[in-house]
Amino acid sequence: MKSHDKEANLTTLQYRLYTNRAGYTEIDRIMRLCGQAHNDMIRRYHYLQDKGVSPTKIRRVLNEDNTYLKNHNQEWSDLARPILTGIQFRTERAFKREEEVEEAGAPKTKSPHQFQTLEINEPSKNHLKRRESDTKNPKGEVHIKGLPHLWFDADDRLDFATQPRVIRITRQGRILTLCLVVEAKPTPLPPAPHTIAGIDPGVKNRLTVVNEKGEYYTIPPLDNSPTEEKKKELQRTIQRCQDQALHDDRAYTALHWDKKRGKYRCRFHWYGRPSKKYLDARAQLQNCERKRQVRQSQHEHRFTTEIVRNHQTIAIEDTKLVNITKSAKGTAKNPGKNVKAKSGLNRSIREQRLGAIRDKLEYKASWYGREFIRVPAAYTSQTCPSCKFTSPENRPSRDYFQCQSCRTNGPADAIAGTNILKNGQKALQEKEINTPSPRSPTKSRPGAKPPAKATSQKLARARGLSPSGRKQQDKKGSLTQLEMLLLAEISPPKAGN
Ligand SMILES: [Zn+2]
Repeated sequence: MKSHDKEANLTTLQYRLYTNRAGYTEIDRIMRLCGQAHNDMIRRYHYLQDKGVSPTKIRRVLNEDNTYLKNHNQEWSDLARPILTGIQFRTERAFKREEEVEEAGAPKTKSPHQFQTLEINEPSKNHLKRRESDTKNPKGEVHIKGLPHLWFDADDRLDFATQPRVIRITRQGRILTLCLVVEAKPTPLPPAPHTIAGIDPGVKNRLTVVNEKGEYYTIPPLDNSPTEEKKKELQRTIQRCQDQALHDDRAYTALHWDKKRGKYRCRFHWYGRPSKKYLDARAQLQNCERKRQVRQSQHEHRFTTEIVRNHQTIAIEDTKLVNITKSAKGTAKNPGKNVKAKSGLNRSIREQRLGAIRDKLEYKASWYGREFIRVPAAYTSQTCPSCKFTSPENRPSRDYFQCQSCRTNGPADAIAGTNILKNGQKALQEKEINTPSPRSPTKSRPGAKPPAKATSQKLARARGLSPSGRKQQDKKGSLTQLEMLLLAEISPPKAGN
């Protein structure tokens, strides 16, 4: 979920939403109804689009459809009109995205139980209310016609006097979440104690943060082992239920064509209603996974905020994860080496969620007026920060760096962080040279990237690539130097045993 908007300074507040026992059933019914309306709208849109009707005209047709539905359908006439408008807004947004974004495919219909979100854009004043009985812990209530009684624990972040832009109600199993998009005034941060931070992402440590004095600290990955064990246990339970059901002839398996993987996969189906044990285990598994995601993202928020708070400029590696986590499989004619090891490495790189961390750092930096720089990643882990000697032999072991030329040594992560910091400083200087007056009004052109940034990045990338004019190694089939080093980080040392 997008939790920020740079242009309009919007922020999203999230609250757990409560209702009574009958309310959950009622919400389920309404969500199903909305899912059907959503599917109808998508089909209608596709039909009109194929006939060559313009989007403005389609909008008019959908509006008329909704008015008809509201006036003639009993279930819809009991519900507030904004809910229907919200679904129409979502549909139009999906089709607009299809036109504008290259990777976005055509909007698809959803299975009704997949429809999990109600959205109300530009809600009226009466939709959110403060519960008057308790003033110490202000409780909020959501009043939308047709929805059951809903309440949440409001806090200081929410000002009932100002109107939110969007009210969003999301269902995840039995858990309801209220998201309010409100206008935010980011609290100004005190000046940072350190001018620049060099950040080296890794596998053993998620991040290593180095400041200009050469001090560094590491952020280890979150320990998920209790959750992982519980998940494995639940998966075993699910498997046992499925085996038993197959044995008792209450279920069957069938082959399905998996479009994404391009091969057939065996899938499990129940003839009738699944067993209670199976449903319980599956619900618990989903809950486990959701909790893990929440914990993970909270952890990320905590340390990214700390980094932004303590540094004026943040420099981080500009790694293209798609390139690094490419499969080593190769082709049938030319099979790659170390396929299994590479896939394991890829998984542990993806688990670090580097992209998510970088995004958080970037928007937080722009919020609080800090500078965010991406520096080229090439050879940062093999270059000596003091004499610039670059060689894979500078890393005698996975955690240790020793320059073969001038004998500078230290922990490998910290050395890489120092290199990133120095590249960041260089990029910053080039940026200052390229932009003669940093506070010129030209930089506030909305939607366009500042050109100085792009050129300075390009320059820095060109400079950082290869000091000795070495060509980039071919990544296909075999592991590159960088990947070998990363692999050494996660695999247990063999020499010790
Ligand atoms: Zn050196």
